[in-house]
Amino acid sequence: MNNEFLNELRKKIGAEFIFEKEPMKQHTTFRVGGPADVLVTPSAEELPEIVTLCRTFEVPYYIVGNGSNLLVGDKGIRGVVIAMTNRMGDIVCDGETITAEAGASLGRVAAKAAEEGLTGMEFAAGIPGTVGGAVVMNAGAYGGEMKDIITSVLVMDEFGEKKELSVEELDLSYRHSCLPEKRYMILQITMQLQKGCADEIRAKMAELRELRITKQPLEYPSAGSTFKRPEGYFAGKLIMDAGLRGFQVGGAQVAEKHCGFVINKDHATAMDICQLMQEVTAKVEAEFGVTLEPEVKMLGEF
Ligand SMILES: Cc1cc2nc3c(=O)[nH]c(=O)nc-3n(C[C@H](O)[C@H](O)[C@H](O)COP(=O)(O)OP(=O)(O)OC[C@H]3O[C@@H](n4cnc5c(N)ncnc54)[C@H](O)[C@@H]3O)c2cc1C
Repeated sequence: MNNEFLNELRKKIGAEFIFEKEPMKQHTTFRVGGPADVLVTPSAEELPEIVTLCRTFEVPYYIVGNGSNLLVGDKGIRGVVIAMTNRMGDIVCDGETITAEAGASLGRVAAKAAEEGLTGMEFAAGIPGTVGGAVVMNAGAYGGEMKDIITSVLVMDEFGEKKELSVEELDLSYRHSCLPEKRYMILQITMQLQKGCADEIRAKMAELRELRITKQPLEYPSAGSTFKRPEGYFAGKLIMDAGLRGFQVGGAQVAEKHCGFVINKDHATAMDICQLMQEVTAKVEAEFGVTLEPEVKMLGEF
């Protein structure tokens, strides 16, 4: 990494928020991924300056949230990873409206909603991502999705220009938004919830959490559902029916508890996971003529 760039970076953001040769396995729920040249955890104020600096020095940069939908390659990431963390995690509630910075975790925002007696985001309480990552993915569960509760999103483009986009402009559909193709960074999201009963909201969240514990292999690192749900099917059922329950490549395994999850069973590499995903896709295609599409996003060098 260019020394002049690093010196300039140190002028923009405190040394304690700059991590060189940072193992990405510490920033992904798969617990997989080689080193990022540099990882930074900026505040909302520092973010535009860092993006401008990267552009000036022609250093590529990538945005990550909690890394709960990412598969980072074993050779890591050349350039700068900008991780949205709690330094960009303010949550403000005003009546039935909640505004949260992109790095706030869904769990924290859902807890705040419950505390304020606001209903509508119970479905999201157990999804282990940030609100920024949840909007990009239009994350959803148990009949709800981010699309139902977002009213607008504050984004920044690669030139540091900020703008407010309405929910319609995000083009949200099943695990999709237009944000990656437009290279927009999410800075803040605004959600509209409804008045409800705090005890009932907490009870619903606890019930859904319990369902996850029972059905999902939460005892192992993973990125949740590895594949998207193909129209008219369930990925997990197709994989199970193809006889792949427990199928293993190196340290990666199709979870016995839920075949829709690939887990890091035992020191898996990104290559193990990729290979397993390819073999699962080929077998399901051959058995049922259905093409599985990854839900997990690949990042870096494999
Ligand atoms: C155990 C487990 C259970 C899960 N259950 C569910 C579930 O029920 N439903 C569901 O939908 N998902 C689920 N997931 C997947 C994952 O939690 C969601 O996709 C989540 O929304 C990802 O958020 P993140 O902050 O971790 O994003 P990351 O994984 O860090 O990033 C995902 C994508 O968003 C981009 N991104 C992140 N933040 C920003 C930002 N601020 N601006 C621009 N781009 C950004 C990244 O570049 C990347 O392309 C699960 C994952 C796990 C591990």
